Amino acid sequence: MISQIEKTLDSSLVSDSQLEQINRYTRRAFEREEVFVFSLILCDNEIDRDGERFPRASLEVLAKLFLGKTGIFDHSPVSQNQSARIFDAQVEELPGQVEGEPRCQLRAWAYMVRSDKNKDLMLDIDGGIKKEVSVGCAVAKITCSICGADWKQKPCAHQKGVRYGEGLCHHRLEEPTDAYEWSFVAVPAQKNAGVTKRAACSHVDLEKLWRSTGDVSLTPGDLRELKSRYQALEEKARAGEEYLARLKGEVVKLLALTRPEITPALAGEIAARLELSQLDQLQKSLSRAAAGRFPPMPQLCPQPEDQDAQQENPFVI
Ligand SMILES: [Zn+2]
Repeated sequence: MISQIEKTLDSSLVSDSQLEQINRYTRRAFEREEVFVFSLILCDNEIDRDGERFPRASLEVLAKLFLGKTGIFDHSPVSQNQSARIFDAQVEELPGQVEGEPRCQLRAWAYMVRSDKNKDLMLDIDGGIKKEVSVGCAVAKITCSICGADWKQKPCAHQKGVRYGEGLCHHRLEEPTDAYEWSFVAVPAQKNAGVTKRAACSHVDLEKLWRSTGDVSLTPGDLRELKSRYQALEEKARAGEEYLARLKGEVVKLLALTRPEITPALAGEIAARLELSQLDQLQKSLSRAAAGRFPPMPQLCPQPEDQDAQQENPFVI
C-alpha cells in the first residue's frame, strides 16, 4: 500500500481532545486556529508488494511508536521549519478479513503550526498535491506465515509468494521496536512512498557496536542511518535541554509569585529535582494559581492573604 495523507481538518473541526493532545507536544498552548490538522494512513495489515504484512498486533504497537514522530517536507532533517508531528494514532477496522483477522489500517493524526513558512506546504496538502508519505519502522521478528520460523534467527525453505497447500507464504512483521521520522514524498508516485521496513538491525547492530572491541564494518546504508539517528538525537537533546531549562526558570518564578514563603533557593532545588512531566504539571497549575491571585488589571493593589486560593491549589509540596 501507499502511505498517504487522507484528509485535512478544518480548524473549527479540531476537537478539544485533539487540541489537548497537540498541546502536549507544544511549548505553549495553541488555539485551534493556529494549527493545521490532517490524518494519514500509515500502513495496514494487507500483504504488501514485498510479500510482507503487519499483523494487527504489530499495528497496535506501531500506533504507540509513531506518537510524537515528526514528518519532514523533504529528506533533509534541517528543513525543520516545515514539519508536522503525529499526535494521535489508532488502528481502525475495515470491512473484510486478512489472514484470519479483521482487515485494519493504522491511521495517524498530525498537526502543523500555521505559519508563513508552512503556508505552501499546507496548501499542497489541502489541495491533494502533497499526498504520499514515506514512513519507516523496525521490527524484532520476521516470521514465515507457513511454519512460523523467525527469519532473523533461522530462515526456512518457504518462499514468499508461493502457495503451500492452503496458504500463500508471506512474512509477518512482528514486535515493532521503533518508528522513524516520516517524510512527505516530493514527487508523487515516487518509489519510496510507502512503508520502509527494517529488521530492527539498527538496534541490534548498535548494541553490538557498543560492545565490540575489534574492528567493525558498516555499509554505507548503516552509516547513513547512524548519522541521521545521531543528528536527530542531538537535535532532540538540544531542544529538550532548552525546554527543560526554560520550564525550571518558569516554575521558580511562579513559585516566588504564588508562594512567597518559599525561598528562591528552595524553589530552585524543587525545580531541579522534578522530572519533566512533573515540572510541566506544576507550571500549568502555578500559572493558574498566579492568574487567580494576580488578575491582570489592578497591578498596584497589595495582595491579601488568600487562604482559599492556596487550598484550591492541587499541588502540595
Ligand atoms: Zn516457513
